[in-house]
Amino acid sequence: MHELGIVFYIIRDVKKAAGENGVEHVDGVVMNIGEVSTIIPDYLQDCWRWAADKEPMLRGCELKCNIIPAVTLCNACGKEYPTVQYGKKCPHCGSEDTVLSCGNEVEIKEIEVKS
Ligand SMILES: [Zn+2]
Repeated sequence: MHELGIVFYIIRDVKKAAGENGVEHVDGVVMNIGEVSTIIPDYLQDCWRWAADKEPMLRGCELKCNIIPAVTLCNACGKEYPTVQYGKKCPHCGSEDTVLSCGNEVEIKEIEVKS
């Protein structure tokens, strides 16, 4: 379980962005979480609540997770397909020469501040 480590990265980045923009309190953070990333959104929420409430700037701040569907690109035929459904093998041509094109991300999409 490394969600807590991720939460500390998020907090560091959010505080940095808030500091640069002269923001005193952040009300919401929107995350993009890839479908095949190793993050479990429920755990992430629990860790977030625990850690964010220790930071005056983030007290009560809500964490929202956008789940990004995983897509794999086939190098053999150039088509894309849903990773979770088909895994490493291309359903179009049967090749296993495939590469994950998205779905592994864990990134901050938006920081929300009430004006
Ligand atoms: Zn293919």
